[in-house]
Amino acid sequence: MTNQEIIDKLLNGEMKLYQVDKQVDAKDATDIRREFLEQKYSIDLSNISNYSIDMERASARNIENSIGVLQLPMGIAGPLKINGEFCKREVFVPLATSEGALVASINRGASAITASSGANSRVISDIMTRAPAIKCEGAVDALKIKQWFIDNFSQLKEIAESTTSHGKLLKIDPILIVGNYVYPRFVFSTGDSMGMNMVTIASEKILDKLASETTATHLALSGNVCVDKKPAAINIVEGRGKSVIADILIPKEIVEKKLKTTTDSIVEVNIAKNLIGSAASGSLGFNAHYANMVAAIFLATGQDAAHVVEGSLGITTAENRNGDLYFSVNLPDLPVATVGGGTGLEVAHEGLEILGVAGSGKAKEFAEIVASTVLAGELSLVGAIAAGHLARAHQEHGRG
Ligand code: NAP
Repeated sequence: MTNQEIIDKLLNGEMKLYQVDKQVDAKDATDIRREFLEQKYSIDLSNISNYSIDMERASARNIENSIGVLQLPMGIAGPLKINGEFCKREVFVPLATSEGALVASINRGASAITASSGANSRVISDIMTRAPAIKCEGAVDALKIKQWFIDNFSQLKEIAESTTSHGKLLKIDPILIVGNYVYPRFVFSTGDSMGMNMVTIASEKILDKLASETTATHLALSGNVCVDKKPAAINIVEGRGKSVIADILIPKEIVEKKLKTTTDSIVEVNIAKNLIGSAASGSLGFNAHYANMVAAIFLATGQDAAHVVEGSLGITTAENRNGDLYFSVNLPDLPVATVGGGTGLEVAHEGLEILGVAGSGKAKEFAEIVASTVLAGELSLVGAIAAGHLARAHQEHGRG
């Protein structure tokens, strides 16, 4: 069949989009599906058609029904000085976004941090979780199933770890019971991968064992106590992905020179906006815009973009210390990877290489960089709001 004959079959409904892959290689299948859309809607998709990635590889691992690529502008912020446990150097951070002013703002924060002592960053927890929904006869039976998980932990650990060379089952905790349903939260360490595929495969094996030894049935491999890709209090308290902190003490002169405001103004904006405003609205994110930095780095480095919702969680604090500004961010739920998933895509790999964290042994260093970048962006925005507040106050004062 020629390409046009396949497109004709797509147009008249004789062939499904995924069936094109059985006729031609991934690159041609990509072109055919895109041209099908161009002909169906009389549109030009020449920008989506421009790419350099290996579509054969991407189609095997990252995408179905491919039609090309998304291009986003990528900028760079830095140098950003980091005093981490794993990252002890200055970095330039690649950021992919269409939001004008974001990179400039992060760059300004990075400049203030680097001119001070640098961002202190640490990974305080490193886990990935899966929590299936298991159905029992009743609540008493559910309690027995909970006990089964506790009694058999060593054996279940062995079964789970037989599926992976990097994944380790650390604990099953908490094990929630609601009526006749049980939700055991399997907590793994997953090396330098984000780990969702890894823990899902391992959890499935545990559930096979459960099915062979009890009458309980598992209804969903993910019972939403994990909690994957939703903002959740359990992830804030227990952590998920990397839990990372970053802080800085910025001398008064640098606050005034680089952020064009005062320590007191920043502290007041942080209390009114990030703490009180967030509490009043029931927000789970007590911060100004973690999601902006997390999204831009995730897109530039091939992270799972849906995890931005988890990375948006966290609390920003600010204190006046004799005129100097103490400022901190904490990200309890940051699923990041330097191996596996989308990090293998050529363009993502290049983004990780800019940071010097591509490949094995680098995930914690990368997490410290993400947290330090969040610190830079958060500091800059809160500073800008504080400066605006001050400008208005000055205006009113001048008029008065
Ligand atoms: P993955 O690419 O499926 O697995 C990581 C692979 O890298 C494993 O084969 C692992 O080998 C290997 N590996 C090599 N060096 C490693 C190292 N230093 N540390 C850790 N692993 C190493 O990726 P994943 O992180 O498990 O899953 C990420 C993907 O899951 C993303 O594409 C994401 O979109 C997707 N996802 C899946 C689900 C789901 O429910 N399945 C949910 C959300 C997202 P070993 O296995 O032998 O250790």
